[in-house]
Amino acid sequence: MPEPLAITSAKGSLLFDEEGNQYIDAISSWWVNIHGHAHPYIAEKIYRQALQLEHIIFAGFTHQPAVDLAEKLLALLPLNFSKIFYSDDGSTSTEVAIKMALQYWWNQHEHQTSGQKRNKILAFNNAYHGDTFGAMSVSDRSVFTAAFQELLFDVIFIDTPSEENITTSKKIIEDNAKEIAAFIYEPLVQGAGGMKMYNPILLDELLLFIKQKNIICIADEVMTGFGRTGKMFASEYMQTKPDIICLSKGLTAGTMALGVTGCSEDIYRAYISDDVQKTFFHGHSFTANPLACSAALANLELFKSENTLERVHHISEQNIAFAKQLRQLNGIKNVRTTGTILAFELMNGKDEYVNNISQVVTKKCLEKGVYLRPLGNTVYIMPPYCITTEELETIYSVILDVI
Ligand code: PMP
Repeated sequence: MPEPLAITSAKGSLLFDEEGNQYIDAISSWWVNIHGHAHPYIAEKIYRQALQLEHIIFAGFTHQPAVDLAEKLLALLPLNFSKIFYSDDGSTSTEVAIKMALQYWWNQHEHQTSGQKRNKILAFNNAYHGDTFGAMSVSDRSVFTAAFQELLFDVIFIDTPSEENITTSKKIIEDNAKEIAAFIYEPLVQGAGGMKMYNPILLDELLLFIKQKNIICIADEVMTGFGRTGKMFASEYMQTKPDIICLSKGLTAGTMALGVTGCSEDIYRAYISDDVQKTFFHGHSFTANPLACSAALANLELFKSENTLERVHHISEQNIAFAKQLRQLNGIKNVRTTGTILAFELMNGKDEYVNNISQVVTKKCLEKGVYLRPLGNTVYIMPPYCITTEELETIYSVILDVI
């Protein structure tokens, strides 16, 4: 590995290193940044909150930023959502979702002492849901999980839907339906799996089928949430809504670590009991940290005051035009876009994460003032929404140069 770059400050879409070089952050610092780095409004809100209440235990206590954020998120989420559960990051938000869904069934069936148990998870091949053990289990068996393979729990995997495979997938679901507790999916785009994009209409068809089997649907919108795919949440592209949603990354506009797992009233009700065993025993030291909640509230305010979804639309249009240009080139394939995300493969070595062309691209782009970090030979851009038209054009021209 090359030596890591020491970044001393950042502003808007730009990163500055200790030698005075500047780089456009073309991947929003691992897909988290929204309104730009060191945003003064968010910084001010965090500062004010730090002077008032920096943190308290979130068991037996509550505080205004957590309540306000939950209310604001519920107003944005599909109508079937009724509760917000806080955790620390994307991995914990999916970990919580998996536990919440499994225990929903456990609580419902008098601890499932008799009859068939619903304790299997259904997931997509090529999925990525995080680095903790539950999250790894429901992710693709890949280079990320190889060392732990034998310790991961069994999952039923199907392919993301296409006209060719959807009937087979339905058959697999049908055959195992009574055992499946929940289905977890990254709607529209599989991120770490290589920015693989798939058809929302077919996803909708699959979700409807799954729902009809009483299987809990968990949308992992850790990456796709907060405008990435063009709408506030990717789930808005489908008629069939999830029962549980996982959010992080853009939740605080990329300033602080925070995870959210939202759920429907039905899921929540399965936990209302005098039986202590039916408690959802999950809490982190920094659950609902007030500073992080304040950053998230500032993020949502900025979405309104800065017309952020319009900016998202503008980036999406620019990406579509650039994709047309890319499709004319030799040496690359599968040029695709969804909202602010544009991706393609370099036809150089194997299509895999461990393809070293990634490091070559990163180095060459940094030399030209742009920060990109391909997933193997998959080059993608996912800029902060504050990016200017000129900065985006610079990213495009550096990509063309490097190709
Ligand atoms: N789910 C998805 C869809 C993700 O893209 C990621 C992070 N890349 C995670 C979960 C895990 O989030 P975190 O890195 O914050 O733990």
